[in-house]
Amino acid sequence: MTDILRTTAEVRARVAELKRQGKTLALVPTMGYLHEGHLSLMREGLRRADVCAASIFVNPAQFGPNEDLARYPRDEKGDVAKCEAVGVSFVFAPTPEELYPPGFQTWVEVEKLQLGLCGGARPGHFRGVATVVTKLLALFRPEVALFGEKDYQQLRVIQQLNRDLELGAEIVGMPTVREPDGLAMSSRNAYLAPEERQRALALSRALKAASHLRQNGEHQSSKLKLAAHAELANAEIREDYVEIVDAETLEPLEVIDRPARMLIAGFLGKTRLIDNGPL
Ligand code: AMP
Repeated sequence: MTDILRTTAEVRARVAELKRQGKTLALVPTMGYLHEGHLSLMREGLRRADVCAASIFVNPAQFGPNEDLARYPRDEKGDVAKCEAVGVSFVFAPTPEELYPPGFQTWVEVEKLQLGLCGGARPGHFRGVATVVTKLLALFRPEVALFGEKDYQQLRVIQQLNRDLELGAEIVGMPTVREPDGLAMSSRNAYLAPEERQRALALSRALKAASHLRQNGEHQSSKLKLAAHAELANAEIREDYVEIVDAETLEPLEVIDRPARMLIAGFLGKTRLIDNGPL
């Protein structure tokens, strides 16, 4: 049975009990509407710790005023059934008031990593992410917390805050789980009309085209970006950004002379999708 906990007090008690039993804990924070990408993190959590917990919280603090907070897809019952099937012991699904009670005023910002890319396009987004993840890591005190490379800038932000604030978890980044045709799994794929779903393949195609050029010895970022732009333009995806960055610092690279990643964000109608891959 997967238990649903609603309050931080319940989580604190549950975690204390686990510690008394000498059990290690893995945490997988999510916004719900779970898919195989999320479940892959939970399965890995169970390989690395005795007990795996998940959180399901559509965090208002990481949405801008004109973003999709109100229509973000939700299916708590289905999510809990999936967690149960994977072997997750408990799910923390709080209300926004539980995590942001009246008078809340402490925010976490990761100064440099939050700039640019999705941070540039979505002001305040990473402040919201960093704050909620800090709260979850402080509350659960997990040995391991698992996050997807699908949200690469987010992963780097979380690794940094975990280190800077001595939160003591091992932060594990897991590879992006894709549909058979290459589309990165995302709860937001549910927004796509069938015709948009088809065009969305251009994101993963753009990454492939760039990686192909890289493998053939091209190290000028501009050349790789041109290939990516062409794929996106062909599918009439409105680009938000196409960047090639240092895989650790996320600083833009003109010449690829170290571990690097291409990160892409684009709009299909109102739906904003992101994807990224190593170069
Ligand atoms: P979300 O519910 O979208 O906030 O995602 C919760 C966690 O699942 C984050 O660490 C994401 O990076 C991760 N995640 C989302 N989609 C995927 C995917 N396709 N493959 C692997 N991890 C993912």
